[in-house]
Amino acid sequence: MIKIKSLEEIELMRESALIVSKTLGLLAKEVKPGVTTLQLDKIAEEFIRSEGATPAFLGLYDFPNTLCMSPNAQVVHGIPNNKPLIEGDIISIDCGAYKNGFYGDHAYTFEVGEVAPETKKLLDVTKQSLYEGIRQFKAGNRVGDVGFAIQQHAEKHGYGVVRELVGHGLGREMHEDPEMPNYGKRGRGKKFTEGMVVAIEPMINMGTHKVHHLKDGWTILTRDGKPSAHFEHDVAIVNGKPELLSTFEYVYQALGINSDEEKEFRQKELVL
Ligand code: MG
Ligand code: MG
Repeated sequence: MIKIKSLEEIELMRESALIVSKTLGLLAKEVKPGVTTLQLDKIAEEFIRSEGATPAFLGLYDFPNTLCMSPNAQVVHGIPNNKPLIEGDIISIDCGAYKNGFYGDHAYTFEVGEVAPETKKLLDVTKQSLYEGIRQFKAGNRVGDVGFAIQQHAEKHGYGVVRELVGHGLGREMHEDPEMPNYGKRGRGKKFTEGMVVAIEPMINMGTHKVHHLKDGWTILTRDGKPSAHFEHDVAIVNGKPELLSTFEYVYQALGINSDEEKEFRQKELVL
């Protein structure tokens, strides 16, 4: 059952989402060759707690850490460890925060130092596919419209769209209805209405869409060993239109990037 949120609830959800956004911004400054994912995990946990929130992934389905850290060929759900990142890596960081009874959940894939041009392109296309999907998350459209838009964009560039993992409704639970696949057919699936909130999160592989699971029970990797990217935003339907609750602006501030990509998805100005 899809749980519709009031405007007041959506504002509380924005607060949770922005705690994650700030966490990702903080991490953006720390992602560099030599740092370990476990060090980054500690920074994130301390920051989330300092904001009066709880790290949402820690203990969820028994996940052992605050962040899902998935470098290179890892798609999602990688476990932080003591291995230093190296120049040319990419690292997908997925983060959740819980506050005021609501979850925030979003993700960004970072470059570690200088990465290969074809890897940079994978990141760009994956992020663009996220916005293609968000544009379709509006009243009257259906789940398949979002999936179709993401899949079209990614496959146009010859990339593989992961099937096994999907986006999801978000709210008082981390994973609510509806499931939001990153593939699909236009006009199919559940209809979107005012007050729905979802996490849209394309997981796009440079090569095959096929994945396999590590024996740790968590980590998901590309089957061909090629890199995978993951970007995730939390979005509500307000006035029939997609309204972004999370932001990459903290990341962009940290990295010195100028972007107006989120502007069309904001009905009120973002106060950083
Ligand atoms: Mg996530
Ligand atoms: Mg999610």
